[in-house]
Amino acid sequence: MSIGIASVPRPVNEPVRGYLPGSAERTSIQRELTIQAAEVVEIPCVINGVDVYTGNTVAITMPAEHGHVLANVHMAGPGEVARAVASAEEARADWAALPWEARVAVFLKAADLLSGPWRDKVNAATMLGQAKTVHQAEIDACCELADFWRFNCQYYRTILADQPPEHSAGVWNRLEHRPLDGFIFAVSPFNFTSIAGNLPTAPAIAGNTVIWKPATTSALSCWQLVRLLRAAGLPDGVINVIWGQGGDVAAPILARPELAGIHFTGSTGVFQGMWKTIGENIAKYRQYPRIVGETGGKDFILAHASADPLALAVAIVRGGYEYQGQKCSAASRIYVPDNLWPEVRERVRGMLGEVKQGDPRDFSNFVSAVIDQRAFRKHQQYLELAHTEEVVAGGHSHGQTGWFIEPTFVRVADPHHRLMSEEIFGPIVSVFVYPEAEWRHALRVVDTTSPYALTGAVFSRERYAIDEATRELRGAAGNFYVNDKPTGAVVGQQPFGGGRASGTNDKAGAPHNLLRWISPRTIKETFVPPTDWRYGFLG
Ligand code: NAD
Repeated sequence: MSIGIASVPRPVNEPVRGYLPGSAERTSIQRELTIQAAEVVEIPCVINGVDVYTGNTVAITMPAEHGHVLANVHMAGPGEVARAVASAEEARADWAALPWEARVAVFLKAADLLSGPWRDKVNAATMLGQAKTVHQAEIDACCELADFWRFNCQYYRTILADQPPEHSAGVWNRLEHRPLDGFIFAVSPFNFTSIAGNLPTAPAIAGNTVIWKPATTSALSCWQLVRLLRAAGLPDGVINVIWGQGGDVAAPILARPELAGIHFTGSTGVFQGMWKTIGENIAKYRQYPRIVGETGGKDFILAHASADPLALAVAIVRGGYEYQGQKCSAASRIYVPDNLWPEVRERVRGMLGEVKQGDPRDFSNFVSAVIDQRAFRKHQQYLELAHTEEVVAGGHSHGQTGWFIEPTFVRVADPHHRLMSEEIFGPIVSVFVYPEAEWRHALRVVDTTSPYALTGAVFSRERYAIDEATRELRGAAGNFYVNDKPTGAVVGQQPFGGGRASGTNDKAGAPHNLLRWISPRTIKETFVPPTDWRYGFLG
């Protein structure tokens, strides 16, 4: 069945709820938080629709209260990994053969379940398990994921509808948008429930079957998503879920000839390792695996001398510290001209003085804990480094009850300092103050300091400076912001992804990504074939 591009309705972004004091939505999610915090959930692998409790478990605790166990996650062994591959292969033909309407209906239903009766369940799991405030959970786990599902379905329909001219001189051309010829390995990070939900489902919308390995620390919310997709009618075997240490699980999967692609989000080192393994295995595969990965960042805010210092300070505080700086897009290196520095320093210090940190169940907290002890220890080392420079705000850690790193603002003397070039992925933001007259030089420093190119922002009230920064920093960020913080991309509005060491820039929440999960077949049909082999010019 063919559909016209114009007839594909454009979804509307899921409205973000405010959870204001006294509101019904606030009462409702608080009730759900109490229920989930009182449980210890057993989380199985899911292979061909069957829950597999392996007995080899890892306990998941609340980052903000690390003595509090939320779940036991059943880790996969080699047998579960092999069965997951077999299941994905077995389900492939039936899933691919379903009419597109039937596949899309599953994910549109999932989006409506998520924004409706499952909203509190998924948001509360994200708050408890990943230490997000209610606002951060709402914009991620509910709104962004519902948007991913609705917009990806629309992009897929638009791609299907994009056909070559139907008739030309006795010829009919058409494009068939097949899924890839094998399974997809989706590997998701801890920090966004929406990304975790998007990585396995984007290829599945296009007709692929998937093995999904989520980050164990995000197991509570991912388990809610597995149950939600089941409630939406996702057939058995289409998305198989396995838990495990990344390397142990990945090695046998990356060695399978049926591997058709990886859909990865996480750190640069892990992605490069997977790419290398695929390279080593390249002669074994039935096809060239598609490699799609969004990885690390060292995201910048560059202020021009004409910037509004108040707007800049707010962007630093929101862009740098929301979700404890654990967003790939979080502002992490700031460049401020010396004419603005005294005011920016005082404003950021003042705002951070008001920011409260603690358990996300207390809605007055703006920041919470980092994800686990490993991250906490890593950030403690960065704090030690910060104390060799000028700490403007924060600088301490508190690990007795939860993994709390204070929002820390540190001024460095050298623009190439490690704090300005390495991805920290925590609430530690570094600033370099440059002489106002050296704007051009500052542009070059921003462009060349870090290997990443994910997000970046320029603040200025002068059009020539904005234009110059937009041009000069063309390759420095896949998502570039003017007078706004570099976080908070919205599906359907700001397609997200970066280049250089930040990823393949296939733009999650955009048709670019969906196209990677499709292998088109061109069909040319000639209605009246020639009956003489000779061309006219021969005579
Ligand atoms: P991570 O790389 O530690 O883990 C990501 C996933 O890879 C997890 O599921 C993990 O278990 C798995 N993994 C670990 N080792 C593996 C291996 N050897 N082989 C295969 N899989 C392996 O990342 P994280 O700590 O979960 O997330 C933070 C990172 O993700 C940051 O670097 C951040 O910038 C990045 N990130 C990027 C984006 C983006 O869009 N660019 C979005 C979110 C997060």
